[in-house]
Amino acid sequence: MCDCLFCKFSNGEIPVEKVYEDGNFFIIRDINPQAVNHYLVIPKKHFKYLSEMTEEDRANLGEMLAAIPKLEKLLKLEGGYRLVINQGDDAGQTVPHLHVHLLSGQKMGWNPAG
Ligand code: 5GP
Ligand code: ZN
Repeated sequence: MCDCLFCKFSNGEIPVEKVYEDGNFFIIRDINPQAVNHYLVIPKKHFKYLSEMTEEDRANLGEMLAAIPKLEKLLKLEGGYRLVINQGDDAGQTVPHLHVHLLSGQKMGWNPAG
């Protein structure tokens, strides 16, 4: 068993409402939203850093990113959206399972150190 929150969400060990699920990834709402809509787009396979990706992970991540704009209505992306991947301590990564933050539904400023 993987001792990782997002793996437990992925395999159903911890129940969570999945907004969307596909073969390689799933999407949930962030528990502590930083925008009107704040989703987490999560590959099912566990890895922490982009630097760890295998060829297969690269293909899966590419498919995952390509799927996002196709979910425009579901994720309310009409006005634009922001994707963020935190990597490591300086970025404030708290869950050691790669995920993409998706923020939408409002005008956003830009304060990377915020
Ligand atoms: P990170 O800081 O690693 O980039 O992002 C982890 C995100 O996971 C944070 O934005 C945090 O709010 C979110 N998160 C942590 N625990 C839970 C949880 O139990 N449920 C959900 N839906 N989100 C969580
Ligand atoms: Zn994991």
